[in-house]
Amino acid sequence: MNLVQKSELYNSYYRYNIILCHNSFYNKLDNQLFGTGPAARARLHNVIIKVRIDPTINLAFPTFREACEVNLTYLIAHEMIHCLQANKYGIGKFNPFKHPEFWKLEGYPEYISRKPERSSKDYNLIREIERYVNLESKATDIWILGEEGGCEIPNYYFKGRLMIEYLMDIRHLSYDQILKDSVSESTIYNEMIKWKDSAKEIQH
Ligand SMILES: [Zn+2]
Repeated sequence: MNLVQKSELYNSYYRYNIILCHNSFYNKLDNQLFGTGPAARARLHNVIIKVRIDPTINLAFPTFREACEVNLTYLIAHEMIHCLQANKYGIGKFNPFKHPEFWKLEGYPEYISRKPERSSKDYNLIREIERYVNLESKATDIWILGEEGGCEIPNYYFKGRLMIEYLMDIRHLSYDQILKDSVSESTIYNEMIKWKDSAKEIQH
């Protein structure tokens, strides 16, 4: 809740169900219908955790590509933001079949849920962008290594988070403005890289 409250989509009346469905019939059905990828899903008011978790150490354990670990708080906050996206903009605009481009859909929940990381004093957006560029240049497909715990993620989670962070923290746009903006992903990405290069010059 502390993370999600920072979002412009936050609604104090909104209630979430957190449903643990590892090894359940629901999981089997969901895998059939929507594929086995994600560790969790957001459906209406429900945050559905599909993988094994251990709350005592705040971790979830995806096994889709290989066994790995993700921070459970981030995972839940990410899905709560998906609930709030559909709550604010309507299920017609945010559903598995129709939604904004992936970088806008996934970048924003990543941006909000990773606030603790961004607040740490050694965090640096320029360095994060360089880390992404480096990871992407070595990748042979969309899968790249995530932040921690050895999980591989599709590149648009990390790329989208950086682009949202650039647009919100550097350009001071709201998420609402970003959703309404029709400028292409590649234009914004290139602009962010240019900003990173010039900001680096100033730092040196
Ligand atoms: Zn997501």
